[in-house]
Formats: sequence, C-alpha cells, structure tokens
Amino acid sequence: MAERMLFVPWRYISDWKCIACGKCCKAYSVVLSFPEWLKIVKNYGVDKTVSGLDKLFIKRRSDGSCVFSYNLSNMYLCGLQRMKPKACKLWPFQILSKPKFGYVNEAVYYYGGNKFFIYADSTCSGLRYGKPTWEFTNYTLKEFVEIALGRRINQSKTTANIRFLHPYARFII
Ligand code: SF4
Ligand code: SF4
Repeated sequence: MAERMLFVPWRYISDWKCIACGKCCKAYSVVLSFPEWLKIVKNYGVDKTVSGLDKLFIKRRSDGSCVFSYNLSNMYLCGLQRMKPKACKLWPFQILSKPKFGYVNEAVYYYGGNKFFIYADSTCSGLRYGKPTWEFTNYTLKEFVEIALGRRINQSKTTANIRFLHPYARFII
C-alpha cells in the first residue's frame, strides 16, 4: 500500500471507532486459518479463496478489495458477517506477548493477570490520538484481547457501529 505502515502503542490512542472507510478491506490480503477457510468454502465455494505457498487467503478483486466487501451509502461493509475471519476482527490492533515494536511502557496492557503489548496500525482511519479514554481502555481494548485469545467471538466495540454511522442501515460489519 502507498502509506507507510507504523505501529502505535495503545497509550497514544484516545479512541478507536471503525468508520467503515473500507481501506483495510482493500489494502491487505486476509490470511485464513484452516477452519475459517473450510467454513467459507462450504458456504460460498472454493473460488472465494486463494491458496498461497503455505497460507490460505480470501480472494481479492482486481482493484485489491476483498470479494466480500461491498458498498452501501458510501460505507464499505463486510458480507461475511458472522464468518468474519479473526484477522479482520482484530484489525487494526496487534495483541502480542512481546513488545515487538518497542515503547514497552506505552504498549503494555494487563488482562486477567497477564501482560500483553498492544499496537495499532496507523493506516487505519478510525484512530484518534491522545490520552486513552476509559471506554477505549476498559471496553474496546478488552474486547480485542478477548477475541485474540479466543475467549470471545461476537463483536460489539471492535466493529463499526453502522446504526451510528448511518441511522437507517440495519447491518453491522
Ligand atoms: S478498521 Fe479502520 S481502515 Fe478499516 S474500515 Fe474501519 S476505519 Fe477504515
Ligand atoms: S472478510 Fe470482511 S472485514 Fe475481512 S477483508 Fe473481507 S470484507 Fe473486510
């Protein structure tokens, strides 16, 4: 992608809310776990996926966008809904057991007595910088960690609130 990727530790982020700009559904190839791949193949057919050397991916259109991304009233939504891959649910955050991108004190996050290091990909349009809000720290990031650990599947704070972005839309991504 054209923009330079930079990982920002979570303590520099005041809040994050997905604005359904669709940038991430176009800029990256989504890597699938085998069970995720199997579910997609069973429901949508093998032609919606691509296999690399040792990885499975969702197919992309010629413009780079994910085949499940669609546009509704200038919002880019996910057609996979409840089958959305974990990689997509976690974007733009990386929840790591080691401080891969430095800024140890700014990246450390405690959950369930364990230490994690959280960074955000700065290319996401939904990031707001500053002192983290209470809600972002205690709800949004907690949900990201629980999804990363496999303790949670359903998304609430970690996806776009379409009803807020577009009061008449009945879908969520
Ligand atoms: S996660 Fe970020 S880049 Fe992706 S659609 Fe939402 S605001 Fe845009
Ligand atoms: S599966 Fe959904 S969230 Fe993931 S890249 Fe495709 S449209 Fe975007």
